[in-house]
Amino acid sequence: MTGADIVVIGGGMAGASAAFELASAAKVVVLERESACGYHATGRSAASFTENYGTATIRRLAKASRPFLERPPEGFAGSPLLAPRGMLTVARADQRAALRDELERALEFVPTMRRVSVDEALALVPVLRRDYLDGAILEPNSMDIDVHGLHQGFLKGIRRRGGTVIVDAEVTALERDGRRWRVSTRAGPLSADIVINAAGAWADEIGRLAGAAPIGLVPKRRTAFTVDAPAGTAVEAWPLANDVGAEFYFKPDAGRLFVSPADATPSLPTDAQAEDIDVAEGVDRLERATTIAVTRVVRRWAGLRSFVTDGSPVAGFDPEARGFFWLAGQGGYGIKTASALARATAALISAGRLPEDQVALGLSAAQLSPARLRGMPVDGGMPATARA
Ligand SMILES: Cc1cc2nc3c(=O)[nH]c(=O)nc-3n(C[C@H](O)[C@H](O)[C@H](O)COP(=O)(O)OP(=O)(O)OC[C@H]3O[C@@H](n4cnc5c(N)ncnc54)[C@H](O)[C@@H]3O)c2cc1C
Repeated sequence: MTGADIVVIGGGMAGASAAFELASAAKVVVLERESACGYHATGRSAASFTENYGTATIRRLAKASRPFLERPPEGFAGSPLLAPRGMLTVARADQRAALRDELERALEFVPTMRRVSVDEALALVPVLRRDYLDGAILEPNSMDIDVHGLHQGFLKGIRRRGGTVIVDAEVTALERDGRRWRVSTRAGPLSADIVINAAGAWADEIGRLAGAAPIGLVPKRRTAFTVDAPAGTAVEAWPLANDVGAEFYFKPDAGRLFVSPADATPSLPTDAQAEDIDVAEGVDRLERATTIAVTRVVRRWAGLRSFVTDGSPVAGFDPEARGFFWLAGQGGYGIKTASALARATAALISAGRLPEDQVALGLSAAQLSPARLRGMPVDGGMPATARA
C-alpha cells in the first residue's frame, strides 16, 4: 500500500492549489476520479476576479489571493495570470435601490468602486440599450483570470515539489485504521495521516465515506454559452457587464461574448449539462438589455457551484472525524479565492492557525471551520480531536 502524509481527494482548483501549498513540507498525493483534472467546475467558470462579489469572507479571501495572482512564484506560469477586465454592474429604473445598496456595500471592501453615468456606461459597453439603463457602477480593478494557467501551474508545481497526482483514481472507501486513513481507490489502496476533502460538488459524499456529518452542501447549476460579437465591433476592451439583480452577465471571450443567465438551480452532484430553457432565458435577457440579436449560440455548457448555508467556503478539520480536513463550498468563487484558501489550508494543518496576512484582513479560522455549521466551538481552527 502506498503511504503518504496527506491524501487530497479531487484535482480541481481547490485540491490542486492546496496540494501545491503542502507539497514542499509533506508527502502529498492528489487523487482525481476523472482522466483529467479540471473536468468539472474548475474547467467551466467565467474566469473572473472581482473583490466585490460574495460574502464578506469571500471578499477578504479574494483580496488575500490577489498578491499570488499578480506575482506568482518564479516559473509558475508562462504568462500573466491576470488581465484587466473591469466590472460594470448595471441597473434598470426598478433596480435603482438595489444599485445604491450594492455601491454602499461595495465601498466597504473596494474603495475604488464608483458610480458611472449612463453615458459613460454606454461608452464602455456600447451595445447596452439606453432605454434599459438607469444607472451603473464600475469596479475598475477587477480582472480576468487565466484559469488554465493557474490550475496547470499548481499541478506542475505539485510534481516539482515531489508530490504526486493520480487520475482515474476515484476514491471508493475511507477507513480510519488507528492513527491513519486507509483510502481505497480505483487505482489501488493508499494510506495517509490526513485526508483533504476537495471533491467539489461531491464533498458531502466523500464526508459520508469518512463517517463525518454532512456540511449541507448544495450544488447549484449555472449555465454559460458563447455568442458571436456584433459584426464589425471590437469587443475585447469591454468590461464584464453584470446585472445588479443577478439576472445575467456577459463579457468578451476570445473575440466572442461569454453570456450567463446567472442561474442557480439546485442539483445533485453530477456532470452538469446546459438545459435549453436556461440558454433561452440567457439569450432573452441579453437581447432585452442590449442591441445584440443572437443568431446562434456557438458553445454552451453548465457547471456546479456548491454552497453551504452561509455562502462562505469551508476549510478546516472536521470536529469529530480525526484527520479529516474539509476544503469545500467555494460556490461561485473557487478560482479567485483558491490561492488564499490553499494557504489557509496549509497553515491550519501545519500550525493550527491562519496566515498573518489573512488575519490582518479580518479572516479567522472560525469563519472557515466546518464546526460553525454544526454550532460547535472552534479552537484555533484545529480541534484537538482532529489532530492525527
Ligand atoms: C458557470 C460558472 C462560472 C463560474 N465563475 C467563476 C468565476 O468567475 N470566478 C471564480 O472564482 N469562480 C467561478 N466559478 C466557481 C468555480 O469554478 C468553483 O468554485 C471551483 O472550480 C471549485 O473548484 P473545486 O476544485 O472545489 O471543484 P471541481 O473543479 O469540481 O473539482 C472537484 C474534483 O473532485 C473530483 N472528485 C469528486 N469525487 C471524487 C472521488 N470520489 N474520488 C476522486 N475525485 C473525486 C471531481 O472529479 C472533480 O474533478 C464558476 C463556476 C461555474 C459553474
